[in-house]
Amino acid sequence: MSTHLAVHEPRAFRLVTHAYVSLLLIAFALAPAQFIAYLYFQQDPTLKFENHLFHEFAIAVAILEGLFVTYVTWRCYRSSGEPLLRWLTLGFLGFVLIYSPHGALTRMAHYNIWLFLLYGPASRLAMSILLFVGLLSYSQPSDEVEKRADAGAWLMWIGLFLTMDIAVALIAYSPYAAHPAVRLSMEGGALVFSALNVAVMLMRRIHSPLMLIFGISVAWFALSSLAFIVAAPWNHMWWLAHAIFAGGFLLLSYGVVQAFRTTQSFSTIYSQEEMMARLAESMADTQRALQQVQRSNERLERLAATDPLTGAGNRRHFIEHIGAEIARAKRSGAPLSLLSLDLDHFKAINDSRGHSVGDEVLRVFVRKCLEAIRPYDSVARVGGEEFMVLLPGATLDTACAVAERLRSTIEGTAFDVGAEPPVGVTISVGVSEFGRDGDTLDGFLNVADQRLYRAKFEGRNRVFAA
Ligand code: GH3
Ligand code: MG
Ligand code: MG
Repeated sequence: MSTHLAVHEPRAFRLVTHAYVSLLLIAFALAPAQFIAYLYFQQDPTLKFENHLFHEFAIAVAILEGLFVTYVTWRCYRSSGEPLLRWLTLGFLGFVLIYSPHGALTRMAHYNIWLFLLYGPASRLAMSILLFVGLLSYSQPSDEVEKRADAGAWLMWIGLFLTMDIAVALIAYSPYAAHPAVRLSMEGGALVFSALNVAVMLMRRIHSPLMLIFGISVAWFALSSLAFIVAAPWNHMWWLAHAIFAGGFLLLSYGVVQAFRTTQSFSTIYSQEEMMARLAESMADTQRALQQVQRSNERLERLAATDPLTGAGNRRHFIEHIGAEIARAKRSGAPLSLLSLDLDHFKAINDSRGHSVGDEVLRVFVRKCLEAIRPYDSVARVGGEEFMVLLPGATLDTACAVAERLRSTIEGTAFDVGAEPPVGVTISVGVSEFGRDGDTLDGFLNVADQRLYRAKFEGRNRVFAA
């Protein structure tokens, strides 16, 4: 993985922690070996615990557990079609079917010990072979849906496992049953296949989280076979061998149930490092998307607040803005003034020079306004050729001076609108000051408008403030 968080730690320290984790996993995989060694060197091998009822009970529990795990694994396989899960299902099923007689025939131990005993190694051999084949199929493409549902194939396998049960019985009753090579070849075979399984995993460097559990379980299966080889029926090593096998089985079942509860597959469960990396990636994606949304929101807000032709604020935005400035003026007691402007005889410009020249005049006019005012003053287009300028901090006198400056600037400007000759424009302006000319928003605006009409009425191209 490229971007997990530990990448920022010093390289040497990362290597040490990595090595430590590997050692821990190896120690855990080999943990049963200590118990085997302990019993082997410290315990009298002739000491026995021969309790048939307990054995029957333990095997019954193992069979029930085995059936449950088989079913969960099969459900995972049906969903993901992963070949490894097919082989795992077969491994568990084969184990259950071949191992059951070992429990059922416990009481045969006194009549034909082999009939009782050989089902154990036979079941472990079958399972270890199937798990090994399963590992070899790891990361192969998923089975087709029809293949997953093929009952015939499953029945064939069940038939094969039952045939093995009969074969074991035949061997048990044959003259060769007592030959050490019989049991040893089966138990040794199980040991070899499990050991091979772990070796291949290490060589292929398979270490996804569930496969790690798989590998450790298989290592425990190998050690349980080792314990069975050095054990004698009913002695402590023999019971320990059962316990080690059960430990491996439970661990593997943990992996299967985890798969079932997540992706229903063994290969697509991520390690914590991968998850951290994926999380970091998707958080960065989210962040980027969020920034984009913010940018486009800002853009939309700007669009919603401005007049597209001139870039000045629009009426809605201006009313909001003026409300906020009134509140501020009330709080601070600072003056606040307003200009209401209208272009004179604008209709005539449109009529004589065309609508697009009229548009250009409006644009140039707004530019001139912006040049004439301070940064915290604002211009809004409140009608076709009607504008307002808000002047926070300005008294009526100051506002009048601004208005007069603007009026004379406009009058003196030859509007270069791309078409000859330049257009001459004049404006009429009404001025009001908040408080002095009304202490509501509407009153304040109305007074400015009335003064604008006065300016028009009095002959245009002038400023009225009273
Ligand atoms: P007055 O001096 O009394 O204000 O006369 P006026 O001609 O300016 O006033 P009137 O209200 O009669 O006409 C305003 C004109 O403004 C009419 C309309 O066609 C024009 N107008 C409004 N919006 C636009 C615009 O966006 N572009 C252009 N080119 N003309 C516009
Ligand atoms: Mg006009
Ligand atoms: Mg008008």
